[in-house]
Amino acid sequence: MPHVVTEKCLGERYAHCAEVCPVEAFRPGTHNGEPLMVIDPEVCIDCGACLPECPIGAIVGSVDENPEWAKTNAELAPKFKDNPKAEKRPGNDPPRKPGNQLVK
Ligand code: SF4
Repeated sequence: MPHVVTEKCLGERYAHCAEVCPVEAFRPGTHNGEPLMVIDPEVCIDCGACLPECPIGAIVGSVDENPEWAKTNAELAPKFKDNPKAEKRPGNDPPRKPGNQLVK
């Protein structure tokens, strides 16, 4: 049961998560013309380290919490695999999307 990046990340991509993942499960890319990060479900070991790192709380701890986006993560991860690392945004950079809020 891997962790899942949700739709909140689309257009945001703070990229703090990727820095703490011990197995490099994060894959950055562009989806529908917007920046995104996804988790490769084949690589994630469910350690939980990334979950509190996202400034807007875009990660959930199980597929059951967002099955639709779990599918999106699984579909996009192989496509994003060879993309260069995403640049990290400052944690206090205001969210770009309406409805997103800083949670830490
Ligand atoms: S739960 Fe752990 S292994 Fe899985 S993506 Fe997050 S930091 Fe990486």
